[in-house]
Amino acid sequence: MNIQITDLLILVAALGLLLILERVVPLRPSADASRARYVVNSVLSVLTVMLNALLLAAVAAADLPAIELGFGWESDGALEGAIKGIAAIALLDFTAYVAHVLMHKIPVLWRLHVVHHADTMVDVTTGLRQHPVEALVRFTFTAVPVMMFGIPPEVAATYRVVSAVNALLEHANLALPARLEPIVRAVLVTPAMHKVHHSRFQPETDSNYGNIFLIFDRLLRTYRSPAKTREPANNISYGLDTVADNNRPSLIGLLALKN
Ligand SMILES: [Zn+2]
Ligand SMILES: [Zn+2]
Repeated sequence: MNIQITDLLILVAALGLLLILERVVPLRPSADASRARYVVNSVLSVLTVMLNALLLAAVAAADLPAIELGFGWESDGALEGAIKGIAAIALLDFTAYVAHVLMHKIPVLWRLHVVHHADTMVDVTTGLRQHPVEALVRFTFTAVPVMMFGIPPEVAATYRVVSAVNALLEHANLALPARLEPIVRAVLVTPAMHKVHHSRFQPETDSNYGNIFLIFDRLLRTYRSPAKTREPANNISYGLDTVADNNRPSLIGLLALKN
């Protein structure tokens, strides 16, 4: 589970591309954007990446014994390896889904997650804007199943990179082409779907917890279609009714937010 320079480069490349696309074909104008918001979101995003790198290094250095329930993820055949890899990634995506649901349902965790939801604009800088303690909780929900089920380190590393790039994409102020979006949404969480999750209308806030795969929201009845939102999909009111809107947040003020 070591962080690689190539992983960071992939993340930076995705960030650069999405920033350009947000300028060229934005979903909606960035009326709520302010320099203070960009700075705070960027600082929290860098903290998230650094904290994950440190935690990965700490886990590697500690050389913790894997509990390994013996699921036999290792395989010789390419096809068998690919199927097992996807199964392992789906398992990690399920534990990420569970972590996200708990963030909304347990008051002390929601107090942390408010930092993410209080953003009155949703764009690529919102993706990794989270309380550092939330980053720690989310890391635990990946590290524990990796150790429990003996998931190969390269599979876990792939999940973390795909998950981080996906977080940037889902929050980007962009929309997939109208014809493509429902096709992608049959399997994967789309940017439109995650925008529903940032609605200040609580039944919509408490929906679409999925990270990469859509299936867990479908199976556990937390799915809300972006085609059936209270407001038009390109004009969803972001933020929280329980927190005063502030599009010029300070870092300390944001971390001290109470719901
Ligand atoms: Zn959430
Ligand atoms: Zn989000």
